Amino acid sequence: MSAVIVVHGGAWAIPNDLAKASVDGVKAAACEGFAVLQKKGTALDAVESAVRALEDNAVFNAGHGATLNTEGEVEMDAIIMDGKTLACGAVSSVKNIANPVSLARAVMEKTDHVMLTDRGANLFAKTIGVDAVSSEKLVTNYERKEWEKHKNYVTGVKEDFNARWAHDTVGAVAVDYAGNVACATSTGGIRNKMVGRVGDCPAVGCGGYADNLCGAVSCTGHGESILKVTLARLILSHVEQGKSVEVASKISLKYMGERVRGAGGAIVVSPIGQWASTFTTERMAWAAVEKNVLYYGLEPNERRMERLS
Ligand code: ASP
Repeated sequence: MSAVIVVHGGAWAIPNDLAKASVDGVKAAACEGFAVLQKKGTALDAVESAVRALEDNAVFNAGHGATLNTEGEVEMDAIIMDGKTLACGAVSSVKNIANPVSLARAVMEKTDHVMLTDRGANLFAKTIGVDAVSSEKLVTNYERKEWEKHKNYVTGVKEDFNARWAHDTVGAVAVDYAGNVACATSTGGIRNKMVGRVGDCPAVGCGGYADNLCGAVSCTGHGESILKVTLARLILSHVEQGKSVEVASKISLKYMGERVRGAGGAIVVSPIGQWASTFTTERMAWAAVEKNVLYYGLEPNERRMERLS
């Protein structure tokens, strides 16, 4: 049984000036998550560590670098799920938290609930000793400028999630040496979203799902579309019907495009280590590590390979 990790840095029309940094960021995060698996860490530890690396990287729209809502504030969502027990934890609309994925994990492990939102999530963070960070630490100059430039949410999203208004969620899926799967997804959402808007990311079965019986998925793309078709669970229901993880992802993304005109992407891993990275937007930065080989890509059908030492 080989351990595998796959990560994504968001499906959207990634501009050329962010392309290299996005690919470098997902490669580094995949290696970080794989190092956890190699030390016999769990899939859950691996996805959390990969997503934390992406949240800390200001190139991506999660944690440091998150997009801003109509009032110019950061409001972030995250989910994590353990395929062994179906335990899951999520947070929505959190502010002043550097790593929402770890707060989601704490919700899963330290409360009787699955999701905490807004002030409640921040209050919980305080009780478990997670330090609040100032918003200014999370907001990059790049994001502040883009937000000033494009104050029109509707036009951006109408262009099939291919406009610069949209931004890149991050996520990871993994299977460990024991055959357990896990997923994690974290996002700042969509630039200029309404205050209080929650997308697909923290909704179980939409932004992510993990079940040792069929696999783990992390999604990215137009959140309202992903919610309507419960994309993560839809992909896994095709896997349950015998489709490969790649075919299941392609069918489900095609369905989302046809049924609700939404574009996006997904990464999937099965309990026996099959994996796929698929998207219907212009680009998606992704990377995977399997048996010491790093795979990565950005353009449709691009798959590059590097042997790790
Ligand atoms: N799915 C995220 C959301 O709608 C955005 C993204 O994936 O870029 O909040």
